Order: sequence, then structure tokens, then C-alpha cells
Amino acid sequence: MLAPGSTIGILGGGQMGRMLALAAAELGYRCHIFAPEADTPASEVAAFTTRAEYGDAAALKAFAAAVDVVTLEWENVDREAVRQLASHVPVHPGAHSLEVAQDRMAEKQFVEWLGGRTATWAQVDSREALDAAIAQVGLPAILKTRRFGYDGKGQARIMAAGDADAAWAAIGGQPAILEGFVNFAHEFSVILCRGQDGSIVNWPVPVNLHKGGILATSTLPPPALVRAQAAEAVQLARTVAEKLGHIGVLTAEFFACKDGPRFNEIAPRVHNSGHWTIEGSATSQFENHVRAVVGLPLRPTALMSSRIEMTNLIGDDVADWPRLMADPTAHVHLYGKAEARPGRKMGHVCVMADS
Ligand code: AMP
Repeated sequence: MLAPGSTIGILGGGQMGRMLALAAAELGYRCHIFAPEADTPASEVAAFTTRAEYGDAAALKAFAAAVDVVTLEWENVDREAVRQLASHVPVHPGAHSLEVAQDRMAEKQFVEWLGGRTATWAQVDSREALDAAIAQVGLPAILKTRRFGYDGKGQARIMAAGDADAAWAAIGGQPAILEGFVNFAHEFSVILCRGQDGSIVNWPVPVNLHKGGILATSTLPPPALVRAQAAEAVQLARTVAEKLGHIGVLTAEFFACKDGPRFNEIAPRVHNSGHWTIEGSATSQFENHVRAVVGLPLRPTALMSSRIEMTNLIGDDVADWPRLMADPTAHVHLYGKAEARPGRKMGHVCVMADS
């Protein structure tokens, strides 16, 4: 167990790192951000920052020497960097979680091996393989790069066979999978945290609404169909965390279909669909992640309200800040990003029935 006053290294400088650093500070820990960009949302609120590329071996070595433990705020961190750090300092979550979560194909195979159901899918390594995959999976379908996809990036929809060339070009001809279109009623996520002693807590399940491939809202309680499928999804996500030996928060996204839950993807980290836990739960996803990483016991995840809604402020949405800041029922979180580009997550707002 690391004592308060210890330093937590965080790979990545985005809003997740910012909210982790704030939670760590409340518990008396300091954070050291490692990120290639200048003036990141996380470094604004952290004690120390190293600005360097993830491939910079000398910077990684100095970072490892300056921190007591390392965690990450996004999963597309270079695996070689993580391996190098892990030879000097504990890294949570570890290499196994990253290997599975960074590759859509590995992720699907892993979850199917554990008995979970996914969309129908096929491996696509070439333009010819895409035709074979379309024949196998059927249309409509979504072509997704195996690596480095997020917020709908690295994806192309194929509605008719004539779209295949354009879709292959749109993802840059990278190794991919083709996924059959899932006719879902709702999307939801299981957010859990696994401690160093192997104990797991999970939060109540929100229903998530996406617009243009980006999360728009997370709401609790979810509709009846999601409530009916939550236990099965939670069980699968817990098994995934155990089999990965995962430490920290892990999020599993699901489609709620008429015939049961279908697994979509995992994120080996705190997640946008868990931001409501800051006000809406007895313990936030950020606090429990910090607790897991430093080896403290995890805290309970009970709801603080009968109805909770988190809304993302994307791009120009943030221009509405004067109204939001004046609304006594709105818990406003802004990430300190200077430029409101379209599709950029600028902040979020949480509203609860009892507030
Ligand atoms: P992902 O990056 O895989 O989470 O995809 C982003 C969003 O696209 C999801 O949250 C869904 O709204 C939608 N989506 C992804 N895959 C599928 C699918 N196989 N069928 C239907 N919608 C999908």
C-alpha cells in the first residue's frame, strides 16, 4: 500500500487524467502526468508534468524514477513504453489488459472465449478479405480498424456491396474487422473497479445515448430491458476483469438486444459513461481507480439519487456555460480546453433528481 504523499504517474494528459488527478489530490496523493502535448487538461491540476513522446526512452526512465506507481488514462498508449516502465515501477492496469483492449479482434475473441456474445464479425486484412467478410457477415455492416479507434474514428459503414472500396479507403487499408450491424434497443455500460486484493465493486448500470459515434448522455436508472440484462453483463465484465488480472477501473460496453446483451468493447480505464459517479455515487470511478492503483481498499458504489443524467458538452455546447453555471441543479465540469473544435469533449454536466 502506498502512503498519502506518494506520487502516481499517469500516462496521458486528457480529461480522464484531470479527474483522476483531482481525486488523487483529495486523498493526499500527487500526480505526475506524462504526455506529448503541451498544456494538457491533466497537467493543469497535477503536481508534475513530463512533456515527451511515448517512445522517448530517456524520458520514460526519468519518469519511472520520479513516481511510485504508474496508471493510464487512455488505452492507446504505446505497449513498448508500458513494458519499459513496468521493469522499473508497478504499472496498473498491466500489459495483459492493454494487449486485449487495444485490439478489437483480441477483445472479441477473449470475450467469446469467456462465453460472451458479440456482433457477428470477421477478420479483414486485405481488400479481398473484405469481400469474403461481407459474404460471411452480411450487410449492413461496420468496418472497424483493429487498433487506435475511439469515438467512432477508424470506422466506416457498408450499407451495400458497392460501398466496400470507399470503406476500405476510409480506414486507410489497415488491419480491421467487419462487424454485422446490431439491431439494438439501447446501449449500456458496466463500470467496475478491481482492487489489488482481487475484490471487485461495480456501479449501477447507465443507459448511454451516442450521437455521431460520440457519447451524448448517460442516464440512470436505465430502461426495463437494460435493467433485465444488467446482471448477465455485470457477471461477464467481472469475469473479464478477473481473467485479465486487471487492477483499476474497467468499462465494458454492451448493446441491449431483444434476445439479450451483446458485448461491444472494453476500455481498461475510467470511462465517459462513468462521469456521473462524481456526484451520483457514494464513491466516484476516479476515487476508486486511485484507491486500486495505490492499494487502498475500495469504497461502496451506491447511488446518491433516484435519477441521474450526465450530458457531455461537445464542441460549441460549451458556449452555453453562463446558463449552466447559473443553474443550481447542474453540476458543471469543464476540462480547461482552449479550443472548442467540433466533436471535442469540452466538459460535462450532471443533474440529479434530488439536487
Ligand atoms: P465503438 O467505437 O465500437 O464503441 O462504436 C461507436 C458507436 O457506434 C457505438 O457506441 C454504437 O452506437 C455504434 N456501433 C458500433 N458498432 C456497432 C454495430 N456493430 N452495430 C450497430 N451500431 C454499432
